[in-house]
Amino acid sequence: METVKFEELEISNKILKAVMDMGFEAASPIQAKAIPVVMSGVDMIGQAQTGTGKTAAFGIPILEKVDPKSKKLQAIVLCPTRELAIQVSEEMHKLGKYLHGIKILPVYGGQEIVKQIRSLKSGTQIIIGTPGRVMDHMRRKTIKCDAVHTIVMDEADEMLNMGFREDMETILEQIPEDRQTILFSATMSKEIQEIAKRFQKDAVTVKVVKKQLTVPSIEQYYYEVRKKNKDDILCRLLDLYAPERSLVFCNTKKKVDELVEVLKGRGYSAEGLHGDLKQIQRDRVMNAFRNGKTEILVATDVAARGIDVDDVEAVFNYDVPQDDEYYVHRIGRTGRAGRSGRAFTFVVGKEIYKLKDIQRYCKTKIYMKPVPTVDDVEQIKVEKMMERLEDIIEHVDLSKAVHVLQKQMNESNDYTSLDYAAALLHLEMGYDQEEENEDQEEYDLEGTGAEEGMVRLFINIGKKQNVRAKDILGAIAGESQIPGRVVGRIDLNDKYSFVEVPKEYAVKVLESMKSVKIKGKTIHIEPANKSGR
Ligand code: AMP
Repeated sequence: METVKFEELEISNKILKAVMDMGFEAASPIQAKAIPVVMSGVDMIGQAQTGTGKTAAFGIPILEKVDPKSKKLQAIVLCPTRELAIQVSEEMHKLGKYLHGIKILPVYGGQEIVKQIRSLKSGTQIIIGTPGRVMDHMRRKTIKCDAVHTIVMDEADEMLNMGFREDMETILEQIPEDRQTILFSATMSKEIQEIAKRFQKDAVTVKVVKKQLTVPSIEQYYYEVRKKNKDDILCRLLDLYAPERSLVFCNTKKKVDELVEVLKGRGYSAEGLHGDLKQIQRDRVMNAFRNGKTEILVATDVAARGIDVDDVEAVFNYDVPQDDEYYVHRIGRTGRAGRSGRAFTFVVGKEIYKLKDIQRYCKTKIYMKPVPTVDDVEQIKVEKMMERLEDIIEHVDLSKAVHVLQKQMNESNDYTSLDYAAALLHLEMGYDQEEENEDQEEYDLEGTGAEEGMVRLFINIGKKQNVRAKDILGAIAGESQIPGRVVGRIDLNDKYSFVEVPKEYAVKVLESMKSVKIKGKTIHIEPANKSGR
């Protein structure tokens, strides 16, 4: 797997800057191959699936080619659905954000045509549209094609499946012959080849050649999720499987940074790894991961290349990888050296097709799993607790504990052994804290022994749980959304800690830190009392 940087693709600085803002670390394989071809001006057939980065593969060269000084329509992108038209248009807007004077407009059925006509009249150089609506505008002469030099048929196979063949042909016939014609399709059917033959000239075919790779035989699952729920579901899975060492893959540097912040804020031990880090930082992050100080490493594909850690228990694909080969590399990080491993992939909407592609190419099976609910996590915790208890019953001499209990029961005679066992479980599972959490409490913020203007808070975890000051700081800043810098002194003891926060934030912190986990343990937090607790 060779990495091609965007800088190597002779892209102008303004677009390069936009690409960096989007957090892309390297060109995806289809981009690395297609961008130079499209930029050279020849016709191209690109074979690529959604999710491979194909939009930028044609979007960047179009933005380079369009002349902002001319207000005439210069490029048309045809898409099968309005959703895709909107998506492509948004992506091109982002890529072109530093280019002045270029107007990009999505046009699709269902949208008020009068409004579209007004926008078209105000000088649009690029339109992204569905075939029916584009034809409609051509008929009304609200789209004029005399200056169009580039046409893209995105997801051409989909357009054919949806019965747009005639529309596509009508549109292509009206565009000047000395145009550049680009066709993207996930499959290369006979029909696609016919269209290509009829409407393209000496087209170059670009696809990512796949090497045969061996997929490690590890358990692979996927979850269908919504984008906005990814963080919560990741945390739930981390709680459920409690892997000691896990890798989380994101597609962009930006996402790596954001996710690390979220995880730290929720009390997980996570660090990020991507190409913006200096060698020194990289080494520090890797060492911490290797020696177990960091449990979760969040990384981009490029940055993860050099990772040589053997006992990664689980790999999470927070984003579906952009290339089939990446998938194999990613999941190959777990289950090494004969150990068992698991790989989990989050799939949003259409990405399911990408996953099907991966399965076909890798000749592997990725099983769907229902997203665990909060109750599932709870149940697993109970099961784990019961296992622990049964282990103790079988292997530990309990005579002393039995004796204490019998004595107590003889003396009070009011409760059964089940009552005592239930009470112990209640305590151990933290149910008592949940109950307390149900109503807003009134807090006594006076006399906590803090500095002037501050309140000292007690937290029931400490050094014994490997908690560090920054874990507490991260959890408070993340959960209560107060700036980390206003948090005062943090004192760590073996089994508990103190932290000072400004008085005005104290209730907010106390409320938002209820049932928060730090280092996997649900914490209890309250105002400290004068005696030091
Ligand atoms: P597409 O296949 O064009 O639908 O792109 C899928 C997603 O990948 C979009 O959210 C893009 O913003 C993103 N993307 C495109 N190129 C890259 C890249 N080189 N690195 C990371 N993400 C990318």
